[in-house]
Amino acid sequence: MATDVAHTNPTTTPPLAADVAGTAFPARAKAIAFESPTRDVMHNAARWEIKCLDHGFVALVDAMPRLVPQGQTADQAIVQAARVSYGQGTKQISEDRGLIRYLLRHRHTTPLEMVEFKFHIAMPIFIARQWIRHRTANVNEYSARYSILPDRFYTPTLDAIRKQSKSNRQGGEETFSVSPAPNAQSPAPSSESLTAQDFLAYLDRAEALYQDYLKLTDAGVSREMARMGLPVSVYTEWYWKCDLHNILRFLSLRMDSHAQLEIREFATAMHDLIAPIVPMTMEAWRDYDFESMHLSKLEIAAMKSAKAGVVGPIATQNKREQAEWEAKLASLGLVKGW
Ligand SMILES: Cc1cc2nc3c(=O)[nH]c(=O)nc-3n(C[C@H](O)[C@H](O)[C@H](O)COP(=O)(O)OP(=O)(O)OC[C@H]3O[C@@H](n4cnc5c(N)ncnc54)[C@H](O)[C@@H]3O)c2cc1C
Repeated sequence: MATDVAHTNPTTTPPLAADVAGTAFPARAKAIAFESPTRDVMHNAARWEIKCLDHGFVALVDAMPRLVPQGQTADQAIVQAARVSYGQGTKQISEDRGLIRYLLRHRHTTPLEMVEFKFHIAMPIFIARQWIRHRTANVNEYSARYSILPDRFYTPTLDAIRKQSKSNRQGGEETFSVSPAPNAQSPAPSSESLTAQDFLAYLDRAEALYQDYLKLTDAGVSREMARMGLPVSVYTEWYWKCDLHNILRFLSLRMDSHAQLEIREFATAMHDLIAPIVPMTMEAWRDYDFESMHLSKLEIAAMKSAKAGVVGPIATQNKREQAEWEAKLASLGLVKGW
């Protein structure tokens, strides 16, 4: 990765006329230089890209602010907005961190909307279906009406195929047991191995439809109709721009252990791309949101009536809610008393 390059400030106000091929300053405006040298938060790179799944990626392609004062991070745009009535003054970075932590603790979120990130993402369509539910982003997707979809389909590895969870209707965490490979002692593959192999064969058959898709578009079927037969494992791409407040909401939901594993991989990549650009905000988000715990009124009541460190059940007949309370106690290292 390229190292930071300081942008030297012009000593005089730039001319108010075209000075670079094709660019012009607005005739009525006065250009005001930065007060101190700046740096590019993306280290002058065109994009930062992290590979995801077998053919996917999350690439950070732009950020606002892109230029920040040397020695600072894009967190400063949040601080600047929060202090709009007072000005930056002589506040120290440690105070900036305190202010950001205060904003996150008290859900004063609009200053976070002053930071934006633009991503280029390639993901299977079944992931895009979940992603698009986050309505506050600006999205522009690859058009399979204008262009032929590339031959890219998601196929998990044999040992990553998950079983349907019995306790959670939406998820599947446990994988099929596909090892050890058949050997002299047990010559037949296990039934779990066979099921996992059947699953991959099923995906292969779905992927083979791509040849029909090409043949039919070649024969004159419109692209907008030919795509109807393709499976949701086919990859799509889009540009996705969102402010930091809503990116944090996206990350809270999609990096969570309840989110589907595949979208978690993309969300984690997104997190890893922006974390060095807004480190104070991401630290506060982990402390007060992502790695924090919410307690309901019923749970607080159970905590208050705990005796000698043993905590009772919550006042509910709902088995699922009770199980969630048990899981919270376990993660807090507390003894359940029922
Ligand atoms: C684990 C998991 C399972 C899910 N399962 C399902 C499912 O089975 N079926 C299903 O349909 N969806 C499902 N979803 C999607 C979920 O219901 C939300 O649509 C998705 O998480 C986006 O959340 P959001 O609305 O907060 O985000 P955004 O759309 O980004 O909105 C952010 C916030 O902006 C505000 N906002 C945005 N648009 C409006 C609006 N039109 N009116 C008022 N306020 C608005 C709201 O405060 C909202 O919380 C699931 C999500 C997760 C994480």
